[in-house]
Amino acid sequence: AKAAGVGNYHFYSSEMTEQLRRRLALERDLRSALEREELELFYQPQIDYHTDGGDCMGAEVLLRWRHPQEGFISPGEFIPVAEMSGLIIPIGEWVLQKACQQNHLWQLGGLHGLRVAVNLSALQFQQPNLVELVATTLENTHHNPDLLELEITEGLLMNDVQSAIKILQSFRDLGVTVALDDFGTGYSSLSYLKRFPLNFLKIDQSFVRGIPQDSNDTAIVRSVIALAQSLQLDVIAEGVETAEQATFLHNLGCHKFQGYYFGRPMPALEFTRFWEARQAP
Ligand code: C2E
Ligand code: CA
Ligand code: CA
Ligand code: CA
Repeated sequence: AKAAGVGNYHFYSSEMTEQLRRRLALERDLRSALEREELELFYQPQIDYHTDGGDCMGAEVLLRWRHPQEGFISPGEFIPVAEMSGLIIPIGEWVLQKACQQNHLWQLGGLHGLRVAVNLSALQFQQPNLVELVATTLENTHHNPDLLELEITEGLLMNDVQSAIKILQSFRDLGVTVALDDFGTGYSSLSYLKRFPLNFLKIDQSFVRGIPQDSNDTAIVRSVIALAQSLQLDVIAEGVETAEQATFLHNLGCHKFQGYYFGRPMPALEFTRFWEARQAP
């Protein structure tokens, strides 16, 4: 038994060393990824289902990294590294700047009223100059504030409730909308929710996945929609993969969707074509 214990220890420890090595290598490469222009933004359609077939109302901005040796690395893997190392600060600034530039071009190109939704990480939210950064970026890129949405998560609000309220109020004053991402996966008390000036709740895809078969998921989704309605927040469901899920959500009173059923995240040029195809009569 003792020998097995020692063996296990070695097993875990070498596995951890391997993980640590990989993390450090990723961090090193990520440091130069920005200047080497290995980062790219993809855009995933957000659909307003009210009208015939549904309009494309916006796009969530999703970061992609084309690593020169390893190929494409998913944000699920490198965003945590960017957060731990602090690199998410310059990367996040780049994402915001790039997304606003792109949408300014789209506005000139006829994609009128298209909104881009940019993810903010907790570390960005803790920067004292965040609101200023957003304001100057909007100015520099000639971007209409109404057409920018910021996606934040529950955890980031609960860190420091008072200052979070202040920041959100400043965004609202700027005209920027705010969506609460991954809703339902955090532990925040619902009574807090009404204190934050928010515009959207995004139902997490882990709940959407199970509907309509899974009765727990269905119950959760039903109550999130009811909660959003009572707080006068708009609600968007993410991870919608089937027509059945869309119809089911629509019948529950959720009319805004994002998911593979409508469109995957795609490069800007492809998104332009997607938008134009949907606008066609
Ligand atoms: P998220 O903000 O929850 O983004 C939604 C994720 O769900 C994206 O994964 C998207 O590709 C995926 N998704 C969308 N529709 C479907 C669907 O129908 N089925 C399934 N299975 N998945 C779907 P992605 O692009 O891999 O991003 C993962 C996470 O990385 C994001 O989760 C977000 O937390 C983070 N992330 C991505 N880009 C950025 C960024 O620019 N800044 C920050 N701070 N985080 C980012
Ligand atoms: Ca998001
Ligand atoms: Ca999400
Ligand atoms: Ca997520």
